[in-house]
Amino acid sequence: MKTDRLAWPILLLLLTVLIPSAGVMWMMREAVRNVHVATNQRLEEAYRLQLDQAAQMLKDRWESQRTKISEEVVDGRPAFSFSKIVSTAPVDSVVICDELGKVVYPETDEAVERIDSETDPRWQLASRLEFVEQKYHEAAEAYDAVIQNYMPPIDSLAAILAKARCLEKAGDQEAAITVLKSVSDYSVNGAHGQYHRCAGYLRLLELSKKNSSDWSDASKKLERELLDYDEHPLRSHQRCFLMAEFQRLTGQAGNFPTKDAETLAIQFLSRLSDATVNLPPGLGPTSIPGVWQEHCEHKKLALLHRSETLEKNLLGLVEGHPLPAGVCFSVAPVGNMKDSLMDVSLGPKFGDWKLGLKATGGNPFDESSKHQNAVYVWIAALTVAATCVLAWLLLATLRRRMKLAQLKNDLVATVSHELKTPLSSIRLLVDTLLQNGDKPDSETNQRQTQEYLQLISSENTRLTRLIDNFLTFSRMERGQQRFDLVRVELRDLVEQAAGVFRDHCCESDDCLSVQVAASAVISCDQDSMVTAIVNLLENAWKYSDDEKRVELTADVAADRAVISVIDNGIGLTPRDADRVFDRFYQVDQRVARTRGGCGLGLSIVRSIVEAHGGTVKVKSQPDVGSTFTIQLPGAK
Ligand code: ADP
Repeated sequence: MKTDRLAWPILLLLLTVLIPSAGVMWMMREAVRNVHVATNQRLEEAYRLQLDQAAQMLKDRWESQRTKISEEVVDGRPAFSFSKIVSTAPVDSVVICDELGKVVYPETDEAVERIDSETDPRWQLASRLEFVEQKYHEAAEAYDAVIQNYMPPIDSLAAILAKARCLEKAGDQEAAITVLKSVSDYSVNGAHGQYHRCAGYLRLLELSKKNSSDWSDASKKLERELLDYDEHPLRSHQRCFLMAEFQRLTGQAGNFPTKDAETLAIQFLSRLSDATVNLPPGLGPTSIPGVWQEHCEHKKLALLHRSETLEKNLLGLVEGHPLPAGVCFSVAPVGNMKDSLMDVSLGPKFGDWKLGLKATGGNPFDESSKHQNAVYVWIAALTVAATCVLAWLLLATLRRRMKLAQLKNDLVATVSHELKTPLSSIRLLVDTLLQNGDKPDSETNQRQTQEYLQLISSENTRLTRLIDNFLTFSRMERGQQRFDLVRVELRDLVEQAAGVFRDHCCESDDCLSVQVAASAVISCDQDSMVTAIVNLLENAWKYSDDEKRVELTADVAADRAVISVIDNGIGLTPRDADRVFDRFYQVDQRVARTRGGCGLGLSIVRSIVEAHGGTVKVKSQPDVGSTFTIQLPGAK
């Protein structure tokens, strides 16, 4: 019944909370989405502007880099130009061409210079002695004659190598070394001669003891010659071969900064169908994976870039350009810009390569709206929480009101019922007395009149007690009960209560035994406390059948006054013992009413005791009896 009454208000209240909460949540979600879109738009515009400016800066710097590279080209000295470009420009290699696009460095096979020594009769003689007759000493002498009477186009360095070879074959290694040591004394005749001189050093490295002075001397000289692109430049593939041999024989890496560039250029050229580089200007892929070519300077240069170098170079060109927090530049060919937030094309000169922006941490678009989102989420959460709290307070108030209304109803029902019983018995007794008034004044009549008057008096007392309880209860419920604390002797308090009880219930001393074990003074409202004790005593009397034994004891334990009312009555089950202090609770209403109860006595006792800072408890056993104990603090 009670639940039914509460169901509708609770449902309404839930709707009152849920509908606005859902509305707030929806609005916040929309707001968050709008903020996200707006922030994204704003950031995108700002980023796009920065990116366009950076792209322009990159293109300008790229152009000046190209101008600088073309300035390194020295007409007629391709090897020198090659070495200058690869050691100063941010490229991995370069192929130098003539105006028509024909490759001049690294040299292709057709460009190899050929010196035909075999046509010279002296050389032919020496060769025959060496290879046909295998007379190595004579052959060495014959080669020496070629050296002594040097005549172009014969390369004297080639003759020295041949002489040393013959001495070696003749088993005279020392003499061979001495001959080889002299290669540095002879002038070089073109790239071919330079190659022979280096080959001489190389052979010296092989023949001489490792780390000997000859060996170190040869290794130093060879290293120097291999780095020489200026005076006597070697042909590219010969230089690569000699560098590799140098590294093999010395076990040292050697300081050859151009070696990789030479190798890459040779690799690039080996894949061309002819010795002409004929490609559209700008960046484009090569047939070597991860290598890009760039044709510039009116077909004169084909720059080669590995992807990593190109990326580094391009990023270097935008270095220093201001950027919003949380993003950085990225460069990559189209299709590789996966993690970029936005990108921009760099124009035909850069082929597929693009400049982009990528996040350094989390997505900056999300990051920047995160704060705003957090604010909205907090507002939504607080609004919903506030609505819930208000609804909860409303519900609590509603429940209190309903409880109060219920209480009033119960009170009216109880009061009318409880007042009716003594009033009807008084009316009945008075009517009977009035009728008896006409009868002769016999002794029986007088005794009956006396009896009736006593009954009226006891009903009156019961009525007074009921009204007292109602009034006390009502005052307490309205919070108007005032307690005037005075210092009272515990013994006096107990005896005053016992006296009131005797007046109300039994009049004889035997019905109640009083024991006060210790004397103490407590601070309390005397009348209220007497009312509480009397209520307990009256209950003990009411809820005991024949041979009633009610005891009232008082003691002091740990500064607390302990007042107990013990009976041998009907007792209580543990469940009832927990609830008897609730307002209007009666274990058995029929029993309680026949014994003159209205379900308020124990709740009044508890209110009074708790108002004094004390406690009231019950220990009971059905059909054995109950002990109600009041404990009050501050007993002195
Ligand atoms: P009432 O005026 O009905 O006695 P109380 O609040 O004083 O109201 O007591 C509540 C209920 O507790 C009583 O109806 C009764 O059932 C039970 N009760 C109170 N005192 C005792 C007792 N001494 N022994 C057994 N039952 C008791």
